Amino acid sequence: MKTSGKALAEKVKNINSSDKLSVRSDSLPTWCPGCGYFGIHQALNNAVQQLGIQHHEIVNVTGIGCAGRYGFFTNAYGCHVVHGRTLPVATGIKMANPELTVFAVGGDGDGLAIGIGHFAHMIRRNVNVNYLLFDNSIFGLTKGQASPSSQVGTVSKASPSGSVDAPINATLMALSHGATFVARLFAGDPEKNTPILKKGIEHKGFSLFHFYSSCVTFDKVFKTWGNLKEKTHPLPDTYDPSNLNQAIAHVLEDDFSMGVVYKA
Ligand code: SF4
Repeated sequence: MKTSGKALAEKVKNINSSDKLSVRSDSLPTWCPGCGYFGIHQALNNAVQQLGIQHHEIVNVTGIGCAGRYGFFTNAYGCHVVHGRTLPVATGIKMANPELTVFAVGGDGDGLAIGIGHFAHMIRRNVNVNYLLFDNSIFGLTKGQASPSSQVGTVSKASPSGSVDAPINATLMALSHGATFVARLFAGDPEKNTPILKKGIEHKGFSLFHFYSSCVTFDKVFKTWGNLKEKTHPLPDTYDPSNLNQAIAHVLEDDFSMGVVYKA
């Protein structure tokens, strides 16, 4: 059943007056119902609220793709930039005003294809920016092509026989390039993700939040909610996030452990 404009306006009003989503803007998210990005937005909202960061102290620099819509749904300053350029723009903003809390937000298509060169340089510069990588392993906005993090064999209109390239592992790449805060998170778990986001935002240096998310519209095989719920699990209790060698060895072995993988 189609919701009327009046009913939507009422819904937004109720959301805003609930105080649970204070960072949300007046625009109702247009992501598909069930998209993993709602859970990420919720966790971010919690973290920012709990840290007491004010709206005017936040800048979201968003890339191209479904993840890039994040800035429109968030009540903060924002900059919607060209494809793959969130990190250099975020760097400029942070350099100009270090008091700001700066988030670079983009998907795997944006950050791991055209933007990947910036990712490596951002890590080595260790600028105090928070990078939220929404990784659902698909180009959602352009209707479901395989992305640089798609599994081999991903069938799409652009790869009818299945993609043949090996996927990029953003967590592993960040560790091997010397990132000082690396977290891997399941988008469907906002409550567990909130304290991790708070830690990363408070970290004085570049923070990567590598979210495993679901594209319910275009991926019915790999990163589905069912698969992610079944496969993801917390890092072991004995895990030491200050040990880089252990972190790299662990990530090579286990693609689905979630938590703070490394903190210098
Ligand atoms: S196309 Fe996929 S990634 Fe984009 S909003 Fe819909 S479910 Fe989310």
